[in-house]
Amino acid sequence: ASGSEENDVVVIGGGPGGYVAAIKAAQLGLKTTCIEKRGTLGGTCLNVGCIPSKALLHSSHMYHEATHSFAGHGLFKKNKVNYVKGYGKFISPSEVSVDTIEGVSTVVKGKNIIIATGSDVKSLPGITIDEKRIVSSTGALALQEVPKKLIVIGAGYIGLEMGSVWGRLGSEVTVVEFAPDIVPSMDAEIRKQFQRSLEKQKMKFMLKTKVVGVDTSGNGVKLTVEPAAGGDQTTLEADVVLVSAGRSPFTAGLGLDKIGVETDKIGRILVNDRFATNVAGVYAIGDVIPGPMLAHKAEEDGVACVEFIAGKHGHVDYDKVPGVVYTHPEVASVGKTEEQVKALGVDYRVGKFPFLANSRAKAIDDAEGIVKILADKETDKILGVHIMAPNAGELIHEAVLAINYDASSEDIARVCHAHPTMSEALKEAAMATYDKPIHI
Ligand code: FAD
Repeated sequence: ASGSEENDVVVIGGGPGGYVAAIKAAQLGLKTTCIEKRGTLGGTCLNVGCIPSKALLHSSHMYHEATHSFAGHGLFKKNKVNYVKGYGKFISPSEVSVDTIEGVSTVVKGKNIIIATGSDVKSLPGITIDEKRIVSSTGALALQEVPKKLIVIGAGYIGLEMGSVWGRLGSEVTVVEFAPDIVPSMDAEIRKQFQRSLEKQKMKFMLKTKVVGVDTSGNGVKLTVEPAAGGDQTTLEADVVLVSAGRSPFTAGLGLDKIGVETDKIGRILVNDRFATNVAGVYAIGDVIPGPMLAHKAEEDGVACVEFIAGKHGHVDYDKVPGVVYTHPEVASVGKTEEQVKALGVDYRVGKFPFLANSRAKAIDDAEGIVKILADKETDKILGVHIMAPNAGELIHEAVLAINYDASSEDIARVCHAHPTMSEALKEAAMATYDKPIHI
């Protein structure tokens, strides 16, 4: 593949943001090239993120299947996207030089260039990730044996998901978190129930705790911690320590400074509401720009960005992007938490329904969880929906649709839901928001 002829669109990065943007651009009739250094498409998400972590949550067999049978390349061929495997770097705002993995150098030209280079693991000061005893999520997906003791630093969704995987396989898991709460973005009431559920599964939490030192000179790892507010130090021992303290935008070697693309203090590329950077013809999408660092958000960015390039209208509302923690039970949410609604000073109502009162959940003996809906007191417009349930990540989409169409809780409650399904809990919680539920 060569890109010497000018493209309408060049995408740097073949993750969920990049490959979706490339396919959409080609579908819109634009001549498109996608450059990916890994040699495989799907980015962090498919290679070391969403898919392997969920497949590992499910079974290691599916992990193998998922990583070996992705038809991304076929998708590109079908849509006539030119695919260049190699590391891209800007030589001008309309030219990217690529050192291909076949060892050749080439220059790809584009009228429009989309940066979709994603993000990378972030460590903590003084901690070196060796991917053996001190691992990132990438190393935690590939441990050769089940660690007897696993310490997870950081109680975000990645840490809790990976902690759950190894906990279920027999590790003693302790999660160390600087903040007073796990998953800070979660509704506090749901978070409390979620933490209790994880504790029942024997996950231990040390909140408001700071990691101050790490020692790998012996067989295992010794981690020195102290209270976040200062105080006596303690030493924890583990076979493996997982550092899951967030991810950073990845733009190394891309040559952003060469063409003058602006970034913020933490290295995220600044874009306007059309995904355009300050340099004409250069755009950015996905984890490398501000907003939720999620695969589906990157995909939406990609589609909207090429729609703008093609002279159409694109739109992504970051306030309506669902978030899911894929533990068991799962926790899914869309819109505002109760704390956010309070902070806005909006008068609101809350409707809740526990899965213990849902016949399908009881029938399958998996009834831990709840639906919580927040709606404007005056207009009944839904402001936020939070679900903890075995399949919350699927159930949430009815709420995502409702919120996107400015529905009221009564709108959901008056829609006929099939029986017996877990979705009935959402209908009942909606009834509880403006009136009373039937089954409790
Ligand atoms: P990426 O997926 O990071 O892709 C960027 C691509 O660009 C990479 O393939 C990289 O090799 C390539 N690249 C970078 N620089 C260059 C260059 N100069 N030249 C050529 N190629 C380059 N999100 C969810 O929505 N759901 C989940 O369940 C979920 N689980 C996760 C679990 C884990 C363990 C991790 C780490 C992440 C998870 N995420 C999840 C987040 C998700 O993976 C990211 O939000 C998503 O992959 C971002 O997509 P992207 O296209 O912006 O970037």
